[in-house]
Amino acid sequence: MAANSELIADVVQKVLEELVQEKDRGTDEFTGIYDTVDEAVNNAVEAQKRLVVMTLERRGEIIASIRQAILDNNESLSELATQETKIGRYEDKIIENILCATKTPGVEDIRPEVISGDHGLTLLEYAHVGVIGALTPITNPTGTFIHNSISMISAGNAVVFNPHPTARETSLKIIQVIHQAIVDAGGPASLVSCVREPTLETAGQIIKHPKINMLVATGGRPVVKAVLSSGKKAIGAGAGNPPALVDETAHIRKAADSIVNGASINNNVFCTCEKEVIVVDEVADALIKFMQETGKAYLLTPEEAEKVTQLVVTPDGKLNTKYVGKDVQVILNEIGINLTEEYRLAIFEASENHPLFWLEQMMPIMPIVRVKNVQEGIRLGVEVEQGNRHTAIMHSTNVDNMTAFARAVQTTIFVKNGPSYAGIGLGGEGHTAFTIAGPTGEGLTSARTFTRQRRCTLVESFRII
Ligand code: NAD
Repeated sequence: MAANSELIADVVQKVLEELVQEKDRGTDEFTGIYDTVDEAVNNAVEAQKRLVVMTLERRGEIIASIRQAILDNNESLSELATQETKIGRYEDKIIENILCATKTPGVEDIRPEVISGDHGLTLLEYAHVGVIGALTPITNPTGTFIHNSISMISAGNAVVFNPHPTARETSLKIIQVIHQAIVDAGGPASLVSCVREPTLETAGQIIKHPKINMLVATGGRPVVKAVLSSGKKAIGAGAGNPPALVDETAHIRKAADSIVNGASINNNVFCTCEKEVIVVDEVADALIKFMQETGKAYLLTPEEAEKVTQLVVTPDGKLNTKYVGKDVQVILNEIGINLTEEYRLAIFEASENHPLFWLEQMMPIMPIVRVKNVQEGIRLGVEVEQGNRHTAIMHSTNVDNMTAFARAVQTTIFVKNGPSYAGIGLGGEGHTAFTIAGPTGEGLTSARTFTRQRRCTLVESFRII
C-alpha cells in the first residue's frame, strides 16, 4: 500500500514539475495553436495524460478559471465575433457567452453512481474518452467553444477544434483565452487547441486521425453525416427548423412577446430560435397585432414580403447565405425600407408552401401561417420540423393540446409558453448547451456526454446495511 501511494505521489510530483516548466516557457510559443493537425493532436494527447493524473479539485479550479476568463474577455470576444463573421448581434453574443460560461455544467456532472444490493456494491464512473475532435459552426463561434471546452475538460478530455474558417480569428482568440486560463490555474498547455488555418481539409484530417477518440459535430447536415460516417464514436448536433405553434387557448399577448424575443435573439441564428409561426385562425389577427405592439416586429405587406423573399431565397429555392444573421434593418434596407433601430424582426403572413416556412432561414424574417384548428397546426408543425428532432415551441393553456404536439413532434427541446431560449436555460430551468445532439440522441450535451462508462463490481463486500 505504502509503495503504491509513493508511486502515485512521484508521478504527480513529476507532472507538476513539468507544468511549472511549461508556465515558465510563457504563452508565446505555447498557445494551443499549431501549424498542423498532427502537432495539435500529439500535444493534446500529452496534455490529456497530465489532466487525468491531477486531482478533481484541480480540474474544478481549471474550469472555474475558464469561466472567469470568458467573463473577463466577453466584450472583446463578442465584438470580434460580430465583426469577423458579420452574423448576429453584439449584445446577444454577450448574453450567449455569459450563459455558456455560467450554465454549462462542470466536474459535478460526472459524479459517479453506486448500486448497493444483496450481492455487494457496484461503482459506475464516467471516465474520460481521451482526445476529442470538435467541429464548430460559424453561427455561434464563441458559445460552442465555451460550452464544448468546459464540458469536455470537465470530463477529463483534451479537445482539438476545427473551427469554421469564416470564424478563424475569433476562434484563435478564444483558444488563447481558454488556454491561458487553464495554464494560469496550473493545468496543462494544449488541453484546447486548433490549427492556425482551419479548412475542410483539416476537418477531414481530424475526422480520420487515429489518435482522436471521439468526434463532435455542431453544424448542418453534411458535417453531422461526415462524423457519423467516420467509424468512430461520434456525436451529431445538427440543423433545426423550430416551429412555434399558437392555439386559441393561449395567452396571446404573452405568446406574441415570447415569439418576438425568441425569434430575434442574435438575429435568429441560434439553432433553437423560432423559425416559423403556426397559429390557429381564430387568434391569428390578435397575435399579429400584439407582435406589432411589442415595438420590435415590423409587419411586411404582401408586396414587401414578396420582395424580401426574392432577396433572401435564390431562384433554385436555397437560402441566400449573404443575409444570414444580419440585422433586420440591413435586410429591409435592400428593398427600400428604412427601419429604426428598435426593430428586431420582420413578420409576414405566408401560405404553408412558402419557401421561408421550410428553410432554416437564420435571419430575422418570420413567416406566419394560419391553420383552421390545433389538429391541423400539430400536423403542419410536425411536417415543418422535418424530423430534425431539434426544437419546437407551443403557446397554449390546454394541457391535452400541448401533450399531443410534444408527443407528435418528438423534438429534443419542447418549450411551453415561453421564448425558445428558455429551452437552453436562458430564463428556463436546466443547464445550457450549444451542442444539442438531436440526430444521435444525447440531447443537451454536458460533461457526462463526453465520457465512457466504467463499472467496478465488489462482490459481497462494502455493503453497510
Ligand atoms: P456548417 O455545417 O456549414 O459548418 C459547421 C462546421 O463543420 C464548420 O467547422 C465547417 O467547416 C465544418 N464542415 C462543414 N461541412 C463539412 C464536411 N462535409 N466535412 C467536414 N467538416 C465540415 O454549419 P454552419 O453554417 O457553420 O452553422 C449553421 C448550422 O449549424 C445550422 O444548420 C444550425 O442549425 C446548426 N447548429 C446546430 C446546433 C445544435 O446544437 N444542434 C448548434 C449550432 C448550430
